[in-house]
Amino acid sequence: MEETTSRSSSKVVAVVGGGLVGALNACFFAKRGFQVELFEAREDIRRARHVKGRSINLALSHRGRQALQHVGMEEKIVSQGIPMNARMIHSPSGKLSSIPYGKKGQFILSVDRANLNRELLTEAETYPNMQLNFDHKLQDWSAETGLMTFARSDGSVQEIQADLIVGCDGAFSAIRKQFLRRSRFNYSQTYIPHGYMELTMPPVHGEFAMEPNYLHIWPRNTFMMIALPNLDKTFTCTLFMPFEEFEKITTGEEVMEFFHRYFPDTIPLIGADALKRDYFRLPAQAMVSVKCSPYHIGDKCVLMGDAAHAVVPFYGQGMNAGFEDCVVFDEMMEQFKEDLSVVLPEYTRVRVPDDHAIADLAMYNYVEMRAHVNSRWFLFRKLLDSFLYAIMPKTIIPLYTMVTFTRTPYHEAVERWHWQNKVINGGLLLGATGAALGVACVLIKNPPDVNKLAGPAEKLWSRLMAVGAA
Ligand code: FAD
Repeated sequence: MEETTSRSSSKVVAVVGGGLVGALNACFFAKRGFQVELFEAREDIRRARHVKGRSINLALSHRGRQALQHVGMEEKIVSQGIPMNARMIHSPSGKLSSIPYGKKGQFILSVDRANLNRELLTEAETYPNMQLNFDHKLQDWSAETGLMTFARSDGSVQEIQADLIVGCDGAFSAIRKQFLRRSRFNYSQTYIPHGYMELTMPPVHGEFAMEPNYLHIWPRNTFMMIALPNLDKTFTCTLFMPFEEFEKITTGEEVMEFFHRYFPDTIPLIGADALKRDYFRLPAQAMVSVKCSPYHIGDKCVLMGDAAHAVVPFYGQGMNAGFEDCVVFDEMMEQFKEDLSVVLPEYTRVRVPDDHAIADLAMYNYVEMRAHVNSRWFLFRKLLDSFLYAIMPKTIIPLYTMVTFTRTPYHEAVERWHWQNKVINGGLLLGATGAALGVACVLIKNPPDVNKLAGPAEKLWSRLMAVGAA
């Protein structure tokens, strides 16, 4: 447990939702000395036999790590993660090629979601000014009085009052429902046409079935599969595909046909029987992107994590952004001496553009990961960006690096990316024009023997005509 730096020990902060962001946020508030009450609808996952929920593992990167560092948990969580230094692209023919995530030594970490949640709850519990309340499902609350009503699984109802309510109750937030009833609250949600399904690739002779320090990707344009390593030497493979495609596959034979066609190298690794069985174990899950604004009501309530900004998972930033929310809020609490009437509006002002930017970037990466990585131009630009970054590290920074390995505000990263693209594309155009002019000058100064060129030039011309006709 970290030392507390309290100014507001008498104030009660209710954190609603004990998922990843709620559990971490509770530590931030407890560290400040608030009386923290955490309310979670589910039972305590540390005692649960089956953990229901979303993805089995997640990619943790710099922003998330910084947040963990603030509550003294970075080292512990990093030691339980598996570094992934690069993407490993699997072509349909089984050819492998890797694209590094950043410079040498830069990596993202595959971490176990349930384990991370357990560790965060255990850390939260070490603060004496913390009370964890499981099996408390928020039903309603009042923005005027701060009174919350919780339903328990035994049918009873509990009413609790807090000075500040922090909504960390995920993409379908019950806290956010009150915001929707208010004037001038902007809200949008978009379900993408793709769903996702998780499959397990077991170890082979006690070892990882594929190279472990990579995020494996099978990009197939309109759909893709990825695989992240786990500590038990399994890989969790996630198939992202339009729902209508998932629904077309209705028998074990059709599963095998589909995998033979698109992911043949994974069949011996996952196992034909497991594939035929696991494909039908659970239906594909939906993915939603939620944007809203403002994030606060007066000095009474604030939304963080997926409750404020659920994003599609293709930039690996949902949790990282949610963790960064906690740091940004904490920095403002410090700056404005915990004056909630100033901190909450300022938090909305600063954080909304950043969270909206990462929501848009995640949508952009939805196409990049499954389609662009197959293109030569994309690979050339990745190489060029890395080269320019190596020789001008302060001027040209790849977008992925800014998002994943720095705390550059997301909206600034996007603005800079647009500017860099203009400069690089302008440079390429200038280079191409210069090269063409250079060739022209050489040809003018030393005109070639026309008779010698006649043969090849005629051949080139007839080829061009043939291409044009096609
Ligand atoms: P949640 O994790 O949804 O937690 C909300 C909590 O609130 C839950 O425990 C829930 O039980 C509780 N709750 C809900 N309603 C109530 C109520 N009425 N009363 C009390 N409690 C309630 N992010 C990354 O950074 N990297 C990744 O690689 C990554 N991969 C992903 C892969 C997939 C397939 C998906 C779907 C998401 C991925 N994400 C990733 C995103 C990440 O999972 C979320 O951003 C993160 O879980 C958000 O945490 P949260 O605590 O805000 O919400």
